[in-house]
Amino acid sequence: MKTTGKCPKCDSDNVFIVPGRQDETSIMVDWGGFFTSAAVARYVCGKCGYVESFVDSLEDLDRIRRKYKRYAPETPQAEQETP
Ligand SMILES: [Zn+2]
Repeated sequence: MKTTGKCPKCDSDNVFIVPGRQDETSIMVDWGGFFTSAAVARYVCGKCGYVESFVDSLEDLDRIRRKYKRYAPETPQAEQETP
């Protein structure tokens, strides 16, 4: 929705943006010795209610990349022997 302006679920272009704030929805990041948090903006479809969340600030994304572990899904072993 952020890039297309259209809801991927119902194809409506009736999309609203809820700006990110420093509240319980923001992501904790610490930087420069004090705690701060990355605001998470939400894009809401006005027709079906579908919601997408984005960290819009590139600076905040950089902080998140520094603070959090990169997700690596566990893949099943390729050569697994059956008993
Ligand atoms: Zn929708």
